[in-house]
Amino acid sequence: MIYVHVPFCRSFCTYCGFYSEICSRKEAQQVQSRIFGDYADAVCEEIGERRAEIAATAPFAPDTLYIGGGTPSVLPVEVLERIVRALGPATYAEFTLEVNPDDVAAGGAQYAAALRTLGVNRVSMGVQSFDDGILRWMNRRHDAAGAREAFRLLHAAGFDNISIDLIFGLSQLSDGLWSQTVAEALALHPEHISAYQLSVEEDSALAEMVKDGRYAEASEEQCRGQYDTLCRMLADAGYVHYEISNWALPGREAVHNSAYWRRVPYVGLGPAAHSFSLPAPGVRSWNSAELARRDASGRLLRWRSGSETLSQREAAEETIMLALRTAAGISLPLLRRLSPSAPVDELLASGSLRLIPSSGEPRVRIPEDHFFVSDDIIARLFPAG
Ligand code: SF4
Repeated sequence: MIYVHVPFCRSFCTYCGFYSEICSRKEAQQVQSRIFGDYADAVCEEIGERRAEIAATAPFAPDTLYIGGGTPSVLPVEVLERIVRALGPATYAEFTLEVNPDDVAAGGAQYAAALRTLGVNRVSMGVQSFDDGILRWMNRRHDAAGAREAFRLLHAAGFDNISIDLIFGLSQLSDGLWSQTVAEALALHPEHISAYQLSVEEDSALAEMVKDGRYAEASEEQCRGQYDTLCRMLADAGYVHYEISNWALPGREAVHNSAYWRRVPYVGLGPAAHSFSLPAPGVRSWNSAELARRDASGRLLRWRSGSETLSQREAAEETIMLALRTAAGISLPLLRRLSPSAPVDELLASGSLRLIPSSGEPRVRIPEDHFFVSDDIIARLFPAG
C-alpha cells in the first residue's frame, strides 16, 4: 500500500493549510521541467532505498497506490509515469489519482486516456462546489462547467470509479445553495463522494481573513444542518455512508483510505508524506515538507525523514478514533480492553454508541445521526490519565 505526495499546485485555495509549492503555468517551461524532474528523480531514489519497506507492507495491506497532493494533475503524465515505473510492474487493485478539474478539462480526452494507460483506475476530483461564486471565493481554478466537463471527459475515457470532493459549512453558503450543489453532484452519478466541513487551518489565507475580520465562521447549527441535508440526500440516492466524511455506491468504498482507518501499514513517498509500520504499537514516520534540490555540484539533496514509536496509549487512542469514524465501528471487547475506564455503557445507553449486527464479536459504532458530534463522543472514550 503506497502513497505518493505531489507537492505542487497552480494556486493556493483560500482554506488550504497543506504543504504545497506554487508552480504557475506562467513559470518558464524550463524551470518547471527542472523542478518536476528533480522531484521525480528524488521520489525514484526514495523508492529504490525503501523497496524492502514497500515489500514488507504487502502481507498486511491491499495492493493500492494513491497519488495525492497538492495537485498531482499539475505533473505531466510522463513525470507520473517515471514514478509508477520505478515502483515496478504491478496491477493495482486500486490506483487513485487526485486531479483538479481544470487540468482534466485543459488536457481533454487525450489526457484522460493517458491516465487510463498509466493504470489509474480511480480518480478523486476536487470539485468542492458547483456554485461559481463560492468557487471564486475559494480561489479554485475551475468553475462549475469545468468540473462537469472534466467529469464527462473522465467518464468518456472509461473511468468507472470517480470520487468528487465537496465542502460545506461556509458562512456564505446558504442551505439552498448547498442542496443545489449536492443535487448537481448527484446528477453526475459519481461512484464516491467525500464531503468536508470547512475548517480554519493554520497558515491558510482563511486564517488571516478570520483574524482581521474579513470572514466570520459559520455557526455550528448551520454546519450541522448542511451535514444532515447531505446525509439525507445521499442516502436517498443509494449511497452508503461508510465513514464520517465519505459516501459510496455499494461496493465502491475507497480501498486505500479504508485501510488507513484499520491502521494497515503503508509507505508514504515524497515530501511531507507519512508512513506507518508495525509491529504494534506501531511506528509513524514522515518526510520533511521541502522540495528536492541540487547542490553546486549537481548532487540531489532529498527531503529528510523522521520517525517515532507510538506509546501503547497513543496506539489505543488512534485505533479507537479511526475505527469509530467508520460505519464498521470497533469490536466491543477490543474497545473495553483498549480503554478500560471509558464510559462505554453510558454512551450505549444514551445512544451515542450503538451495537451493530456482527457474526463474530459484538461491535459498536457511532450512529449516523451522532457522526456530527463524533469528536465529543471519541473524547469521552479517553478519560484523562
Ligand atoms: S486545497 Fe488542494 S489544490 Fe488547493 S492549495 Fe490545497 S492542496 Fe492545492
